[in-house]
Amino acid sequence: MDLNLKGKVFIVTGGSKGIGEGITLAIAAEGGIPVIVTRSREATESLLATLQSTGTEAFAVIGDLQDIENCEKAVAQTIERYGRIDGIVNNAGANDGAGLEKGPEAFRASLKLNLFHYYDLVHYALPHLKKSKGSIVNISSKVALTGQGGTSGYAAAKGAQLALTREWAAELLPYSIRVNAILPAEVMTPLYRSWLDSSFSNPAAKEAEIVSKIPLEKRMTTTEEIAAMAVFLLSEKSGHTTGQFLIVDGGYVHLDRSLT
Ligand code: NAP
Repeated sequence: MDLNLKGKVFIVTGGSKGIGEGITLAIAAEGGIPVIVTRSREATESLLATLQSTGTEAFAVIGDLQDIENCEKAVAQTIERYGRIDGIVNNAGANDGAGLEKGPEAFRASLKLNLFHYYDLVHYALPHLKKSKGSIVNISSKVALTGQGGTSGYAAAKGAQLALTREWAAELLPYSIRVNAILPAEVMTPLYRSWLDSSFSNPAAKEAEIVSKIPLEKRMTTTEEIAAMAVFLLSEKSGHTTGQFLIVDGGYVHLDRSLT
């Protein structure tokens, strides 16, 4: 299937590591132009070098998305270079464990880390998305639906991303801008690896325990599987799909617990 992404420009936040890297690579493989917006300079330079060595057009804007100016700058530099934005993948974030015991400052900091830039980037990109009839993909999490404990800020942010997905899908109907969310559950990424390694005395045993509870094939979802859903949602092939929550998780959230 040709997704017809050739020459189209897509901003991917956190686009040089983990799930974001998978989405960047999938956009590039479809002939689209990924614009990585992230604070990870080293990983980004290495990924850009790999892409450019194969003749792939790609660009990056380095900065912390928690600063509103960096969201504005990312849009301005993308327009300066390419003159168009065809889609946004809001992906950057981290489960930072800001639970009830941590207090109001930690809760607010978690919303800043995980939520506000989803809004800020779309706000600044809106005039350009109106022109392109663009697509927005919000990467949320199973935590938005299931609860986890000990992570109020992240859960609030991930739940709000789902609410914004429906809110923006409604508000942007007149412009044919589609808005959808992807909810991963367990995906091995640099962030997931460091959480496992730093939180458990026996990370391998913990990983095996988690994997044993994933119904489909008792394995984690790959970044490529999340990315495949993302590029489909960015493309015109999903032209009548909006306001949806796509749960790409091997049945983790919805299948009967007796199966695992
Ligand atoms: P990751 O491996 O840490 O990659 C995320 C990238 O985003 C990193 O390069 C990170 O930079 C960057 N980033 C984070 N906050 C940023 C900010 N404020 N400004 C600029 N860049 C920022 O994480 P991941 O596991 O791929 O997660 C990606 C998304 O998927 C997140 O929204 C996460 O909540 C969601 N998710 C993941 C899983 C999973 O199993 N992995 C499950 C459910 C949901 P640094 O390295 O400097 O932090």
